[in-house]
Amino acid sequence: MDTPSICTGTQTRTEACACGACGKSPEAKHAANKRDVLALLDLIAGCVENHPSQSFERATWGHVGDIAHLRSLLMEIATGFALGPDRDEQAARRRIEEALCAEDDEVAGALIDAM
Ligand SMILES: [Zn+2]
Repeated sequence: MDTPSICTGTQTRTEACACGACGKSPEAKHAANKRDVLALLDLIAGCVENHPSQSFERATWGHVGDIAHLRSLLMEIATGFALGPDRDEQAARRRIEEALCAEDDEVAGALIDAM
């Protein structure tokens, strides 16, 4: 592997950095960021399943707080994607929360319908 090239201004890898001084076209920057987002989503899913912090005999309120915080961060991102033309954040969030009330085998479809 080549030496990683990290922007000194943003501490972001230069291929994805959007500071304006790291070069490359918007198309290339978008593609690099999209690739990184998908890689990070895979990592997060793996961590939620397998990270040692997620392995315990009985959940404590501390465990609940940690996973609820992660849920909240992801909800914020999902809400951004679910915004309608009215840009009503509360309505988008509500649609997602209601979709999450679906049974496990139906939740993926319900979430897509909520978008
Ligand atoms: Zn940069």
